[in-house]
Amino acid sequence: MNIVLLGPPGSGKGTQGQLLAERFDLAQLSTGDLFRQILQDPDHPLYDELQIVKQGKLVSDEVVNAVVEDAIKKLGNAKGIIFDGFPRTVAQAQALDKMLNSMNKRVDVVLDFNVAQDVLLQRLLGRRVCPDCKRVFHIKQRYVECPDCKVQLVTREDDNEEVIMKRFKEYNEKTAGVKEYYLDSDCAYINLTVDDADTTPEEVHQQIISELAKRGLAQ
Ligand code: AMP
Repeated sequence: MNIVLLGPPGSGKGTQGQLLAERFDLAQLSTGDLFRQILQDPDHPLYDELQIVKQGKLVSDEVVNAVVEDAIKKLGNAKGIIFDGFPRTVAQAQALDKMLNSMNKRVDVVLDFNVAQDVLLQRLLGRRVCPDCKRVFHIKQRYVECPDCKVQLVTREDDNEEVIMKRFKEYNEKTAGVKEYYLDSDCAYINLTVDDADTTPEEVHQQIISELAKRGLAQ
């Protein structure tokens, strides 16, 4: 099963992706994580090109598609892949279809996370991430280090208000077409609305499982 996670920054794609990957034994491919990894290495051929990430702007389709194609190849025989943060443009969605079709696979499910902007902003401003396992925390949980990896949690460079607002704008302008693209396709399109800031990740996960079960895709 290949799953695309759509949703603005802070909507819970990474967290839900991890929970789904564990539950269904799927690989998780986050373009944002791949780019942040490259940005740690000044010798990487894409290092200069990816500086744009720090400004909250989208990376070019050409670069994103090449990075994803390479990552899919490296995942080899994964049972399925969860795409987190990709595709973000219609050109990327078309490229993904091509990549998967060439392996006789397709996008089976799209999960579209809808979360009110004030809730997103609060989540992003308080977000702390484990640099090793990428698990996401919030300052209100009062963790200083990741309870599993025992390394200090970090704040993402693009989680500041100015860049966050640019990322929202990029999402609203560029990713709207991706929703239309998948609504017109034959994949299972699941809309999830999270209005309440106190809804826990586990509750959202259960909501996803029940939607998948209604379509015969989970038990
Ligand atoms: P994310 O971790 O998904 O919030 O992504 C962090 C940043 O990486 C974004 O703000 C973009 O600059 C860049 N990025 C991630 N995925 C994509 C994509 N599919 N297309 C273009 N840029 C991307």
